[in-house]
Amino acid sequence: MRQLAAGTRAFAGLVSIAGGGKVMETAHQLVVLTRKPEDGRERARGCEVLAALEVALGLPEGRANPCLGGRPGVLFGHNRPDIRVPLVATVDRAGSAERIERDIETLAGPDYTLSSEAIRRYAYTRVYRNTLDYFTRELEAIGFEVYEDPVGTLVARNRPRGENVFGVGSHCDSNRNGGKYDGTMGVVTALEVCRLNEELGLGLALQLVSFLEEEGSGFGQMLLGSRIMAQRVAEEELKQSFLAIDDGRSFWEHAKEAGYEPERWRESIHVLDDLDGWIEMHIEQARVLQDTGNRIGIVTAIAGYVHGDITVHGRADHAGATPMEFRLDPGLPAAECVLELERLARAAGKGTVGTVGEIELRPGIINVVPAEARFSLDVRGVDEEAFRGVAGEIASFAEEAARKRGMKAAFKERQMLPATPLDGRIVSALEAAASSTDEPFMLMPSGAAHDTMCIADQVPSAMVFVPCKDGISHSPLEEASSDDAALAAEIILNAIRTLS
Ligand SMILES: [Zn+2]
Repeated sequence: MRQLAAGTRAFAGLVSIAGGGKVMETAHQLVVLTRKPEDGRERARGCEVLAALEVALGLPEGRANPCLGGRPGVLFGHNRPDIRVPLVATVDRAGSAERIERDIETLAGPDYTLSSEAIRRYAYTRVYRNTLDYFTRELEAIGFEVYEDPVGTLVARNRPRGENVFGVGSHCDSNRNGGKYDGTMGVVTALEVCRLNEELGLGLALQLVSFLEEEGSGFGQMLLGSRIMAQRVAEEELKQSFLAIDDGRSFWEHAKEAGYEPERWRESIHVLDDLDGWIEMHIEQARVLQDTGNRIGIVTAIAGYVHGDITVHGRADHAGATPMEFRLDPGLPAAECVLELERLARAAGKGTVGTVGEIELRPGIINVVPAEARFSLDVRGVDEEAFRGVAGEIASFAEEAARKRGMKAAFKERQMLPATPLDGRIVSALEAAASSTDEPFMLMPSGAAHDTMCIADQVPSAMVFVPCKDGISHSPLEEASSDDAALAAEIILNAIRTLS
């Protein structure tokens, strides 16, 4: 084999040969060499690239010269004097998909779920412990140091604490009647990113995190691990109000019993100390990717929401004896509001959505004009002004609609969560990495809440979605493809390479 010029570096991966900023050709699965000059951009003269390809492919000298013609399907364009070479690691996607599939199927086995009909896995149960142990074994096998924060969020890193790392992960607990993919596939894909990094010798500094109790199946509190980490809980809540669904005992008590130190919960925030950035992969939980034929969604923002109730007060009357003009039926303005909410959300645009999920008429008897109508409001979006505007307008509309019929309506907020914009730099890096795969992808908001919401104001963060069949999640019928997850792993890996 020929010797290579001093100062060159080897990369495994896909090579895009760009001329004048335009990608001209692509060759896959090659080892090429390039120099890293002072400006930090990977750059090589065309002849160096060609020589490197010859070495990598074992071709005789000059064979890769495009003037002489190269091996079919491998070589490319013009031998420009200064070809920019953006180097992107390609992975053996089929191999990655196989490993992801194996992890997912293993974690769907009887040792990892409390139910034989669904995945049921939550904090401090035997099956949750087994799941953390599985990830610990897999991560230690590739040289990661694994620990758990004071309440049980799993952290694994390939650099000592104090050194900067890039974060990847999700959660591995499930809804009580959950499927194999929600959360778990995100952790498994993060594990695959770590494996590929080791396998390809990329030397990226990584930290995997699997958050505790995202689904709230143990204590009825969603995003609990990440809220604890972000200090978005009060100690009294952990001690007194967050109670186990199974036995009513406190989170605090359960955490202690499982061997953790809940009194040190505030230290959980140090998991974020050395993080340069964070990418969470998750199944989409809607059907946008499937229906648009995209394999990857790059999330630009996580929707915030207003949750509340509107109550219309009327008067109970006999449904037969009371003529229409003598009634104060609160169900009527309530019905008008349901339609008006649809109109307002559509008009607001920017991904704003509004839903009335609960309607209650009291006393709720077939032959009685109701005295009161209550309906819930769930208004979400990534544009704060837009979704809060819709919530405000529907409240005013309800008052007016009730007033016109001689009744009163009042809006009461249950909870307001602001939208979480994700980091533009990481989103761009993911976009570039996705573009280089030639697979269909799109930028999109996340309508559902995720752990990433809780840490995004402290660490530059982004998310990647993969399709799930018919948008089904939180169900044993959940289905997602390990091929898509492998593609996501490759994109995340390459994005982190360009950011590190
Ligand atoms: Zn989830």
